[in-house]
Amino acid sequence: MGIVIDGKALSARVKDEVKARAAEFERERGRKVGLAVVKVGDDPASAIYVRNKIRACEACGILSFSYCFDGGEKQSAVIELIDALNADKRVDGILVQLPLPKHIDEKAVLARISPAKDADGFHTVNAGNLFLGGDATGHIACTPRGIIELIKSTGEPICGKRAVVVGRSNIVGKPVAMLLLQNDATVTVCHSRTKDLKEITRTADILVAAVGKKHIITADMVKRGATVIDVGMNRDDSGLYGDVDFDGVKEIAGYITPVPGGVGPMTIAMLLANTVEGAFSRNE
Ligand code: NDP
Repeated sequence: MGIVIDGKALSARVKDEVKARAAEFERERGRKVGLAVVKVGDDPASAIYVRNKIRACEACGILSFSYCFDGGEKQSAVIELIDALNADKRVDGILVQLPLPKHIDEKAVLARISPAKDADGFHTVNAGNLFLGGDATGHIACTPRGIIELIKSTGEPICGKRAVVVGRSNIVGKPVAMLLLQNDATVTVCHSRTKDLKEITRTADILVAAVGKKHIITADMVKRGATVIDVGMNRDDSGLYGDVDFDGVKEIAGYITPVPGGVGPMTIAMLLANTVEGAFSRNE
């Protein structure tokens, strides 16, 4: 039976480091690190994520500035706020909780955030830096960064491994594929048009599932001993489920992340890490 990777415990260690770095920043610069969190609309899941992020900031000594629009606002109001936050010296990181309501152009809003304050790492400049393998310190997409830390926590090397990522979104699939490549894995990216998905996933030493479909990855799709990272967060009336059929797959996998308690807590910890690293590198 596979070893369950404890994302909560790992995220607690990351947060301890963040807290120490945030205190160091305050001693050096005479002010706290600041993160602005912007929520537009009344999506209940977004409300939970925003609340958790604000709580995590407080626990690590990071000042949070929270802005909630009810969803009826024009795009120009959100853009104006972003401009003000870009100029605000107390703000080191800006996070716009996705998804945005349909009448607001997500790309335009994300593009407006200063790349130096892009705590989520979604700006094209930072995504481009990641693609080029350059220095994207403090601005690497949080979930992919957390996934790499989870894999590294097993002590198994990534170098030379065959990694399969199921999902090609801009916020998870593509950036995690880039990070795995940077760590010298041989990477295959699968998506909804992939043929013979099972044949491909069965070759994976490292399997990352970022699809958004409950239990789409079953035991027969997994190579014995593989490290399986479940990004999926699928809610229904009976609870929260991953993309991986945990009970079946844990019998086959070498290491596996649970849902909840795997990737989710690491995403928040990496957001805080990005914010503090971004604060140090902004040099203001
Ligand atoms: P998207 O909907 O943006 O992307 C889903 C991807 O899965 C797409 O690339 C899609 O392919 C692919 N896909 C869909 N159906 C299949 C299929 N049958 N076989 C293979 N691939 C398929 O989702 P996200 O990347 O934003 O999120 C994925 C999941 O991760 C969601 O459950 C989300 O809630 C969760 N998530 C969790 C986070 C955390 O912190 N734990 C953070 C972010 C996301 P195509 O491109 O062809 O449409």
